[in-house]
Amino acid sequence: MAKHTHRGTCQICGALQAVNAKTGLLAAHGYTVPAHWHQRTASCFGARKLPFQVSRDVIPALMDSLRQQSAHLRAAAEDMRANGTTFEVELRWPSRASIRKTEAGFELIRASLTSFRPATTQPLDAFLAQQSPNQSAEERAERARGMYAEAVASAIHRLESDAASCLAELPSWQARYDGWKPAPLIEAAP
Ligand SMILES: [Zn+2]
Repeated sequence: MAKHTHRGTCQICGALQAVNAKTGLLAAHGYTVPAHWHQRTASCFGARKLPFQVSRDVIPALMDSLRQQSAHLRAAAEDMRANGTTFEVELRWPSRASIRKTEAGFELIRASLTSFRPATTQPLDAFLAQQSPNQSAEERAERARGMYAEAVASAIHRLESDAASCLAELPSWQARYDGWKPAPLIEAAP
């Protein structure tokens, strides 16, 4: 750990961090402002940057990043709406016991947005065949289509909601930027 004589506030997460006496930059630290930011990183956006007492220069970069992230999420939602079927579905039985007990003894599809792959209702059909062996192939296909459409709609909703959350953060960042005033660094305890 490098020696430091002062501490400063991170422009982004607001945490107090050691200031490198030579470079004037904050120490590396983890990402601690989850808010609604979709993309989580191990490192704070304000790590190894100037402290808020000295500069507000990281805030516009973060705002740009939020706008980009929002556009990216919106594009992904539009793509999913147009092409419909491009994500992996994961099917889970709750437990063997509850399969016997409940009529609809399965948990609904969980869509994984991180691993995209051309989807097909075929796995659902196999799943439903196992679940309701007496159903006709047509009935199963109909149910599989319904479940799939529901999962796609829910995935689109999630993308659009995350996109909106990114934009919703902008005013508070703008306010932090506008309200900035230079201030002295905090002296570290000897
Ligand atoms: Zn930080």
